[in-house]
Amino acid sequence: MKPIAAKKLTPLLYGLMILLAACSAPASLSQAPSNATAAQLVATASQTPGSAESAQTQAPDCSTPAAATPALTEGPYFKANSPERASLLEPGMAGTKLTLSGYVLTTDCQPVVGALLDFWQADASGQYDNSGYTLRGHQFSDQSGHYQLETVVPGLYPGRTEHIHVKVKAPDGPVLTTQLFFPGVSQNDQDSIYDPALLLDIQQSGDGLNAIFNFILAGR
Ligand code: FE
Repeated sequence: MKPIAAKKLTPLLYGLMILLAACSAPASLSQAPSNATAAQLVATASQTPGSAESAQTQAPDCSTPAAATPALTEGPYFKANSPERASLLEPGMAGTKLTLSGYVLTTDCQPVVGALLDFWQADASGQYDNSGYTLRGHQFSDQSGHYQLETVVPGLYPGRTEHIHVKVKAPDGPVLTTQLFFPGVSQNDQDSIYDPALLLDIQQSGDGLNAIFNFILAGR
């Protein structure tokens, strides 16, 4: 190899090394699960390769008449006026990254366009932010009824299994208040309001999880 070619290659090699180092460095959100429950979730998730993109484009799994999504208690930690945002992630936020997506549909499997979805949850250590709006946010379903939320797997808190709270409302419809649960969590069976109809469909994806849930609104 001529010296001039080697000179040209050197910056390229340095660039490649930096890129490889960046890819292998642990990001704050890709840290190992901090408790056995989260680890159990990852371990029991399907090993089918997935990505946020594939979750985003997956057609709704719906057959008529679809059963309406059950309502569940609001709990004590709802706060009105959450910010409009599709990502609840913040720099340095602990926990296993979770991409939750799906559709808002009628019992005839028709998309509900512009449905409000207002999510709130505990952080990875089971704490709610009751003074601010950490891990709280609302968004609206798109023209196909689709929604997507970027967040982290919530932690346990006394008396409750892992869950995400949500209110879903069609533009001209009533509010559905409910909660979503995680498969494979041993505390599910000890939670008095746990409902298997509200289980997320979870796949492992890179350093996190993809979860799918379709909301079926009654009386639409
Ligand atoms: Fe809760």
